[in-house]
Amino acid sequence: MPSVFSSRSQAHATSHAMPGYAERYDETPQRVEVILAALAAAGLGPPVDAEDHGLGPIRAVHDADFLAFLQGAFEGSRSVLADDSPLWPDGYHAVRGWRHRPAGWQQQAGYYAIDRDCPILAGTWDAAYWSAQAALSAADRVLAGQAAAYALCRPPGHHASASQYGGYCYLNNAAIAARHLQAASAARVAIVDIDYHHGNGTQEIFYADPTVYVCSLHADPDQEYPYFWGGAAELGDGPGRGCNRNWPLPAGVDDAVYLATLDEALASVAAFQPAHLVISAGFDLVQGDPSATTRGFSVTPEGLERIGGRLAALGLPTVVVQEGGYQLDRLGELAVRFLRQFAVH
Ligand SMILES: [Zn+2]
Repeated sequence: MPSVFSSRSQAHATSHAMPGYAERYDETPQRVEVILAALAAAGLGPPVDAEDHGLGPIRAVHDADFLAFLQGAFEGSRSVLADDSPLWPDGYHAVRGWRHRPAGWQQQAGYYAIDRDCPILAGTWDAAYWSAQAALSAADRVLAGQAAAYALCRPPGHHASASQYGGYCYLNNAAIAARHLQAASAARVAIVDIDYHHGNGTQEIFYADPTVYVCSLHADPDQEYPYFWGGAAELGDGPGRGCNRNWPLPAGVDDAVYLATLDEALASVAAFQPAHLVISAGFDLVQGDPSATTRGFSVTPEGLERIGGRLAALGLPTVVVQEGGYQLDRLGELAVRFLRQFAVH
């Protein structure tokens, strides 16, 4: 199974102690380092370098003004922020009824951000751009006939919508890969999101689209981030009605319940008859992840293997896109356990 990565992802140089962030910041370059080391040790690496597809396939998913903001925000905000200070939203967020995009950089950050989890640093745009290129390059491998390919994306993407960023995500790598698969083949694509958190950005991008089937298993938004999306009644709009499915799950869900729910979700994926599958692979669904504000799920590493096995058994050409997962002491092991399933099917 080929894997793709760009070292430029690491230009998003976050650390556990981010200036301006009250909590420990978990989305750090070390996540990629431990996955790379584990892939190498398991004989699954090294990944090939992502190829540059330019902005075209990113523009197919994200609004032009949003991209211009992300691309220019660090440099532009030096007029109001010192040296290498991260750009954060100023505390006000335009979440609905948008009428006016303010001129100030910190206010624009609030206009485009759904939360305060996404610092914009000197290397953030470059990293987000190359994270998307990794997803595109993995999609290329699948279009060329590989059964599956893995994109080691960082920063992750599934909380980013067409015009908003949040939850450590800037560009929606999985959505960009899905559109790229469609551009080449005009085919139906299914996206299955197993990250612990609901993939709100992916849901919103395809909410009225009958050609992309989006399903997500995640922590109940009554208890967990992103709180405002992820309910079972969110089924899509207009022609996309029925093409969005959510399975919110309570804290403490174990392997058996998770797998039974996944079987239901995957039966609906098979019924959609997609030509390609994109997996938003967040490994924060495994027990002990620090990103859970409740006690999280009780899914085990062995359970994650079986989840990977069920997804691989669909037999669809598959792009695996890295999303969350923050247990640095075993994130690499989890990635290997999951990805190996695509080598044995
Ligand atoms: Zn997550």
